[in-house]
Amino acid sequence: MSENIFDVVIIGGGPAGLTAGLYCSRARLNTMLIEKMILGGQVMITTDVENYPGFPGGIAGPELMERFQTHCQEFGLQVTTGNVENINDNGKIKELSVDGKKILARAVIIATGAQPRKLGVPGEQELIGRGVSYCATCDGAFFRNVPVAINGGGDTAVEEAMFLSRFASKVYLIHRRDQLRAISLLQDKYLDEN
Ligand SMILES: Cc1cc2nc3c(=O)[nH]c(=O)nc-3n(C[C@H](O)[C@H](O)[C@H](O)COP(=O)(O)OP(=O)(O)OC[C@H]3O[C@@H](n4cnc5c(N)ncnc54)[C@H](O)[C@@H]3O)c2cc1C
Repeated sequence: MSENIFDVVIIGGGPAGLTAGLYCSRARLNTMLIEKMILGGQVMITTDVENYPGFPGGIAGPELMERFQTHCQEFGLQVTTGNVENINDNGKIKELSVDGKKILARAVIIATGAQPRKLGVPGEQELIGRGVSYCATCDGAFFRNVPVAINGGGDTAVEEAMFLSRFASKVYLIHRRDQLRAISLLQDKYLDEN
């Protein structure tokens, strides 16, 4: 594995990594995608995706990701499982440590995504994608005419609360301080609207 120098190595097999993989392999670059868990990233735990163009009525997250993979395979994207632990930039050639092994690349695309900070309360894990959500713009439309509670008092929480008020019958903003942390401009807007 170590003597082959890839044109591109992509770290992360979520939608961003697979999209990069599609473009690179279609451009006939010798491309390797490295994923430490399962291909598809966070979308693998998404029950329904309703905002991806071309799928009226929505599509199950895992099914969409399977299509991404099949599409990438058509262009010969190479995929391996492994955790990228380190990248050494030795000038033109980058050296990646993947579970103790070395992989060499001319270019590296980092598509390692993000992890929402969890609340850590009972039931949270089991209900992800079934009522518990970390993204209002992704999932707000699923909560039409039902009450929604948002946890947090910062900018994101207040912005998401305003967005969700378009759908939900009632929006509760639950925060632990005596006042919101969100910037005052947002607070004013929020208080005006409520
Ligand atoms: C429950 C839920 C529902 C959602 N619903 C929607 C929706 O309906 N519509 C929408 O648009 N968005 C939705 N989202 C958001 C969407 O899933 C993310 O925006 C999207 O997955 C981000 O893609 P990404 O490729 O950047 O990162 P990710 O999907 O996070 O993928 C990153 C990948 O990188 C891998 N990785 C990380 N570090 C390493 C490493 N060191 N070595 C190797 N691999 C590594 C991870 O294992 C992961 O598979 C939802 C998210 C969740 C959690």
